[in-house]
Amino acid sequence: MNINLYNTLTKKKEKFIPINSSSVKMYACGPTLYSNPHIGNFRPIIIFDVLFRILRLTFGEDRVNYVRNITDIDDKIIDKANELNITTDQLVELTQKTYHQNLNSLSILSPTHEPKATNYISKMIEMITSLIDKKFAYISNGHVLFEAKKYKDYGSLSKFSLKDIISGARVEVAEYKKNPEDFVLWKPSKTNEPSWDSPWGDGRPGWHIECSAMISELLGETIDIHAGGIDLIFPHHENEIAQSTCCHDKKMSNFWLHNGFINFKGEKMSKSLGNTTIVNDLLAKHDPTVLKYSLLTTHYRQPIDFSNDLLSYSQNIINKWENFIQEVKTTELDSEFVIALLDDLNTPKALMRLQQIIANLKKDSNNEVLLAHFNNGLSLLGLNPSFLKKDLDLDKEYIENMISRRQIAKSNKDFELADKIRDELFKQGIVLEDTKNETTWKKN
Ligand SMILES: [Zn+2]
Repeated sequence: MNINLYNTLTKKKEKFIPINSSSVKMYACGPTLYSNPHIGNFRPIIIFDVLFRILRLTFGEDRVNYVRNITDIDDKIIDKANELNITTDQLVELTQKTYHQNLNSLSILSPTHEPKATNYISKMIEMITSLIDKKFAYISNGHVLFEAKKYKDYGSLSKFSLKDIISGARVEVAEYKKNPEDFVLWKPSKTNEPSWDSPWGDGRPGWHIECSAMISELLGETIDIHAGGIDLIFPHHENEIAQSTCCHDKKMSNFWLHNGFINFKGEKMSKSLGNTTIVNDLLAKHDPTVLKYSLLTTHYRQPIDFSNDLLSYSQNIINKWENFIQEVKTTELDSEFVIALLDDLNTPKALMRLQQIIANLKKDSNNEVLLAHFNNGLSLLGLNPSFLKKDLDLDKEYIENMISRRQIAKSNKDFELADKIRDELFKQGIVLEDTKNETTWKKN
């Protein structure tokens, strides 16, 4: 089976061949946890989870190393923590809890590692030191900056030239910079900001060096796939490439994958649109599968219009699945369905194929092969409709999923929904017990 992926670096769809097929290496930039994740944070998580599943299917479950980080130090985190009068660690712990509940509700596989940036400060200092020694970086007024023009291929990912970058005012001009396009590797911390010891004084890392350090420590100097949102191409990924390549003298990643934006009623999604985009709030109103299905209806590189209409459309389709969700005996997959996914993760085509299979099933509902194709297809996409599982043997994942949803409802003060979920489980013979910090369950 050939996997073909669109590579932002070459602007072409290319056959994916890992450097070492017994240890495939993939990294995705994770969220900055300063508030509860919004749907925009989850588009890359959901699509690259599908990629992770396809790579595991192709190369073997224990042969894919997937790292998805958590950014736990950043201006927004510091500002928000100050506003709430708590430490940045406390804020990250708080939002991380919700983030993990959301991941769990949406049946996202755990990555191999989920590192937090601040646990890799010493690796960052090591890389910055090496960049200074090699004259790619300079110290200025407590800052360490990467001198972009010293890296001859700077702009190779975004296809921006230094001239474009400067004239387009894509970079910040600052007194401590030799050139406007230079970017920060290390900066002094202000009073009341978290800081770490370094050879250049107490301070904190720039954002870009965090990912380069975690990749180099956990996966190595060259990886197979680096993924993230399209908004990260410049400057974040461009700068990651510059500093990692100059530090190690090796190509950083063979493939670069980027997902498109989410438009909300025609506008690029932003925080100003309010709570309707917060995953917690969406999950309180919609089945996780509906949310996930909605995001997979558009090809990941295209912008997606996220709306109530899209959610209702997805809900309708999923309702029709009810009679076909079953435990199946084989792991066989439909070849057309698989081919669609192997072709640059064409999820809209794969979902259409599942609907076709259902249509064929109606004509011949005893067809075990089609039934297996449908159910195995859903599970490869990580689409496990929890509300449809009630007639099957209850499994642990389902119960924990329901508990997470109830937790979310409670934190949204939607006690009616929380009670409904508890009653639903009770009807299925599961009793929930709330203690101060957690909810446990037992069979009645
Ligand atoms: Zn990153």
